[in-house]
Amino acid sequence: MNVLLLGPQGSGKGTQAKRIQGEYGIPHIATGDMLRNAIAQETQLGRKVKPILESGELVPDDLMIDLIRERLEQPDTAEGFILDGFPRTPAQADALDAMLSEIGRELSIVFEFQLPDQIATERLLRRAELENRTDDTPEVIARRLALYHEQTEPLVEHYRAHGNLVGIHGDRTVNEVFSEVQQALDQVAARS
Ligand code: AMP
Repeated sequence: MNVLLLGPQGSGKGTQAKRIQGEYGIPHIATGDMLRNAIAQETQLGRKVKPILESGELVPDDLMIDLIRERLEQPDTAEGFILDGFPRTPAQADALDAMLSEIGRELSIVFEFQLPDQIATERLLRRAELENRTDDTPEVIARRLALYHEQTEPLVEHYRAHGNLVGIHGDRTVNEVFSEVQQALDQVAARS
């Protein structure tokens, strides 16, 4: 089962992705985590992207596309994957379509987590405090949400046209959201 999660930062994608991974045994591929790891390990990629993450801007498409191509080649994705944080731009979405068709796979389902900016901002500020995430200042959060609306939200229409988009209201408890996610995934699993 190949799952894609769309939604602004703070909408609960990461939390739900971890639940999906636990329940269905497919790997959670979170580009933000991969980049933060690269920064922590001070790799060449990490050094390049550090200032970009700190400012809330987007990492260039070609770097992200290479990163995901390599990740999807790993054998643990054979039974499926949960993509969280990629694609974020139309060019990334086109590259993903091309990559998947090359290997004869397609997205089984695309979730769009919906959450008003104000609630996303409150959640992100709280998370910044709890996890000491230095990239989560009010200015950077606002910039990332603006970029989400500008660059990523249009992808919803791209996936709606493919007919496998499911909208999810993110302003509920983790368990409430997960039970809806699970219903949708079980339907997909039953079809395949
Ligand atoms: P996230 O943890 O998904 O919120 O991502 C944290 C940061 O990593 C973003 O604000 C971007 O700077 C960068 N990033 C993660 N995924 C992507 C992507 N697909 N394209 C460009 N930048 C990304």
